[in-house]
Amino acid sequence: MRRRVAILGATGSVGRSTLDLIEADPEAFEVAALTAARNVDQLAASARRTRAGLAVIADEALLPRLRDALSGSGIRAAAGAQGLHEAATGDADWVMAAIVGCAGLEPVVAAVEAGKTVALANKEALVTAGALMIDAATRSGATILPVDSEHNAIFQCLAGQDRDGVAKLFLTASGGPFRTRTTSEMATVTPEQAVDHPNWSMGAKISVDSATMMNKGLELIEAHHLFGLRSERIDILVHPQSVIHSMVEYVDGSVLAQLGSPDMRVPIAHTLAWPKRMKTEVERLDLLSIGNLSFEAPDEQRFPALRLARQALEHDSAAPVVLNAANEIAVAAFLGRRIHFSAIADLVADALNAMNAAPPNTIADVLELDRRTRSWTSHRIADRAA
Ligand code: NDP
Repeated sequence: MRRRVAILGATGSVGRSTLDLIEADPEAFEVAALTAARNVDQLAASARRTRAGLAVIADEALLPRLRDALSGSGIRAAAGAQGLHEAATGDADWVMAAIVGCAGLEPVVAAVEAGKTVALANKEALVTAGALMIDAATRSGATILPVDSEHNAIFQCLAGQDRDGVAKLFLTASGGPFRTRTTSEMATVTPEQAVDHPNWSMGAKISVDSATMMNKGLELIEAHHLFGLRSERIDILVHPQSVIHSMVEYVDGSVLAQLGSPDMRVPIAHTLAWPKRMKTEVERLDLLSIGNLSFEAPDEQRFPALRLARQALEHDSAAPVVLNAANEIAVAAFLGRRIHFSAIADLVADALNAMNAAPPNTIADVLELDRRTRSWTSHRIADRAA
């Protein structure tokens, strides 16, 4: 039977990799819906190629252009929050959540509440509303399959194992492009240098997060929600080759690891075919040519974002919302050359100190705190520039 898929964020790095796998096997998949924020041309081209049922553009002002681009194709066009909701909850049984940032939260929650199989790349959704999402999945019977390579690795290492036998998780980290740089060297790096990741090809936001190591901090929070372990049982290990994608240590001393080439199509394919396997054309892992695998402890002095994320997780459920929103605004400001690289973590720390909020009980509470933190951080950036 063909699997009906929807891809939220189809024009991004994860979305394109997902389309690549789906288009290589048209017998196995049909496309129910594709979405984008503003990239009408790419969205329309992908929708036409895959004969999608629905194409959604988040920016409502662009709906007439999308309609034009799809005219004569028979593909339905929609826009805005309602369109995204329809893509997430429509007749797809498998939904790829690959919108970047907290902007993806509402459609992801809608897909979870509709009981879909959700392949989750959008880590910011779990970081900001992890407990609410896991509760919603329990109520609706939705399955959440982790796409992030580290969490997908852990998910694979846990399959068929006794969960009570888990001692700890090891999240591996490449260390990003500035792994060996000093704090003063990092102060002057450019956006171009920050997005130039040594191993992975990714969207701009997550590439900057990898450079500050906030990405690993977000992943720590993500792992806590996905696998139900407290922060002290999740270790971070810098592994510059990005060959071991993460590991699980069991109480008997066994450590299970998942390995592969650093190509997001591997974890995406795992979630697309789950619980089976599908063939891919990705480069095979050649351990002989790699030769050595090395490991280092993360340096929280040079990469304070990692410490801030762990503290936020250990504090309360409001702190990760603040951490994430301040980080999103600060990363956008860095990419727009309005602040220096080192100011990203400073702004996140300032927001965590300044924002007072009760732990959110609903998605509406999360979105309100997200909105307030974005506003606070934007003003802070403007004040610093004045
Ligand atoms: P990209 O920036 O490459 O793509 C983001 C996608 O989201 C695009 O389709 C974009 O549309 C859409 N989008 C952006 N803003 C909005 C919005 N406000 N409303 C609706 N849609 C929006 O991101 P990535 O693919 O790199 O990352 C996606 C998610 O996956 C992130 O959460 C990231 O952390 C996670 N992830 C990514 C990995 C990777 O290898 N890239 C690895 C592991 C996790 P448009 O093109 O029109 O702007």
